[in-house]
Amino acid sequence: MPFLNENTVLKYRESSKEEEFHAKYEKALKECEKYFGKEYPNIVVDDVVEERKIIDTSPINGKEILKMQNASMETLDKALGILSKSYRKWFELGHLARAQIFLNAAELLSKRKYEFSALLAWENGKNRYEAMGDVDEAIDFLRYYALNLLENEGFVKFIGKAYKNEESLSIMKPYGVFAVIAPFNFFSITVGMTSAPLLVGNSVILKPSSDIPLTSYLFVRLMHEAGVPKENLAFLSGSGSSIGDPLVTDKRVSGILFTGSRETGLRIFHKANMESPKVVITEMGGKDAIIVSDKANIVKAIEGVFRSAFGYSGQKCSACSVAYVHKDVYNVFMEGLLKRTKSEEPSDPRGRSAFITPVVNKEAFTKFKELMGKLPAEGKVQAGGRVKDGEGYYCYPTIISDLKNDSFVIKDELFLPILAVKKIDSVKAAIEEINRSDYGLTGGIFSESEEEIDYYFKNVDVGVIYANRSVGGSTGAMVGSQPFVGWKMSGVSGKGTGSFYYLQQFLREQSQTIVH
Ligand code: NAP
Repeated sequence: MPFLNENTVLKYRESSKEEEFHAKYEKALKECEKYFGKEYPNIVVDDVVEERKIIDTSPINGKEILKMQNASMETLDKALGILSKSYRKWFELGHLARAQIFLNAAELLSKRKYEFSALLAWENGKNRYEAMGDVDEAIDFLRYYALNLLENEGFVKFIGKAYKNEESLSIMKPYGVFAVIAPFNFFSITVGMTSAPLLVGNSVILKPSSDIPLTSYLFVRLMHEAGVPKENLAFLSGSGSSIGDPLVTDKRVSGILFTGSRETGLRIFHKANMESPKVVITEMGGKDAIIVSDKANIVKAIEGVFRSAFGYSGQKCSACSVAYVHKDVYNVFMEGLLKRTKSEEPSDPRGRSAFITPVVNKEAFTKFKELMGKLPAEGKVQAGGRVKDGEGYYCYPTIISDLKNDSFVIKDELFLPILAVKKIDSVKAAIEEINRSDYGLTGGIFSESEEEIDYYFKNVDVGVIYANRSVGGSTGAMVGSQPFVGWKMSGVSGKGTGSFYYLQQFLREQSQTIVH
C-alpha cells in the first residue's frame, strides 16, 4: 500500500468542489459546540477526575470553553505503574497487528477530520485551511509510520553468521514507557509524537499542551477505539510547571519526546537523565530566515515571505521571522510586502476569508503588546505594531526594518506575527548570518539562479530548506516528502518527523544468537 497524503483542500480544489469543503466545515463548526461548557477526565485505563482543574479558553474571544484535569502525583504514579508493566504484551502483539490498529486510527480520524479541524479554530485559533492541513498531517503521520513499520518488517533482521553452527538475529525492541510532552501549535505534532513510540511497542503517557487539551483528549479516545489497549496509552492533562519535573525524572520513564520552546526543552534535557539514563528527544524553537536574492522573482518572494511570516500569526515553528533582502531589490520588495501585509486584517478564524487569526492565549497577547512598546527602540516599525480592540487576542502583522546591530528581534524567537527585514549585500553574507544563529530549523531562498540555490543548499546549516516556495517560503512541510528536523538549538536528534529514520529512535537493538 503506497503512502498518500490526505491533502483534503487540494483534492477539493482539483475537483472544483471547494464549496463542499466549506459546507462540511461550517456544519462541523456548529456541531462541535456540543463539547463546550463541560469537564473532561484524565484517562489512566479508567476516567480520573482530579481535585485541581485546567481552564481551556478560546483565543477567539478569550472566554472559557471547557475544563480539563490538572493531574496529581497519585495519578501520575498510577499511570506509570500500569504502563511500565504492560508494554511487553503490546509489543508481543506483533508489528502487523499494531500497524493495522494505526491504519484503522487513520481511517477514524479521516472520517472525523471536519470535527477536529473545527475544534482547532476554538482551541488554538487556526483558520479553516490551516486547521484542516493540521488534521491532514495528523492522519498522514498515523499512516506513514504504520507503513514504515510494515516496510521494515518490524525492524527484525537476520544478520551475519560468525560460526557455522550459530544463527544470529538483530531485533529492535521497545524501551518501555515514553512520556510525550506536546506544544500548542500543531495537533499533528501531538499525534505524531504519540504515535511513533507507541506504534513500535512502547507504552505512552501523553501530557498535552494546556492550550489544546480537548483535541488531544479526543485523539486518545479515538486511539483506544481503534484498538490501542488502554493500559498502553494514558492521557494526563496537567500544567507543565506542576507535572513536568516529576514526569521527566521518574525512573519508570525510559524516554521523553518533547516539542516546544527552547527554555522548556533544555530544562527537560538536563533534568531527565540526572537519575537514570533515558532517551531524550527535544525538538525546540527556531529563528527561521528567508533570503531574497537580487535574482529573485519578486512577486513570488513577496507572497512566500508574507505567507510564511504571518500564516497562523507567526506561531509556526517554521514561520519566517527574518527576511534577508538583497540591497538591489530591497525597495521594490519592501513596497510590495508592506502593501500585501497592510491589506490583511486579523480576524475570527471561523470566517471563510480569515488568514491572520488570533494568537493562542492571553500570555502571547500580553507579550505582543509588551514587545510593541520595545520595538521602536530597535528599528523602524513599518507595518502593524498594534492590537485590535475588543474581545480575543488579535494582533496586526508587524514588520520592522533598519534594526540596530545585534537587536534581539533578529536573534530571539518571538513566536508572534513579527517579521524583521534586513538589507544584505550578497546571498553569501546572508548565509553567514543565518549560520551564526543559535537555531537551524527551517529556511528558504528566492532566486531564479540554479547556481545560487545550489550554493544555499550546500552551505546553510538548517534542517528544512526550500527554494522559491511562494505558498510559504519556509513553511508547509509534508509528511513523507519533507522530513521535519531542527539543527543546533532547534532539535537534538538530527532525525526528521515524517521520515524513514524516525521510528528507530524509539527502539533499542537486541542481538540474539543461538548455537545449534
Ligand atoms: P512550551 O511552552 O515549551 O510548552 C510545550 C509543552 O511543554 C507544553 O505541553 C507545556 O505544558 C510543557 N511544559 C511547560 N513547562 C514544562 C516543564 N517545566 N516541564 C515539562 N513540560 C513543561 O512550548 P509551546 O509554547 O507550547 O510551543 C511553542 C514552541 O514550540 C516554540 O518555541 C516553537 O518553535 C516550538 N516548536 C518546535 C517545533 C519543532 O519541530 N522544532 C515544532 C513545533 C513547535 P503547558 O501547556 O501545560 O504549559
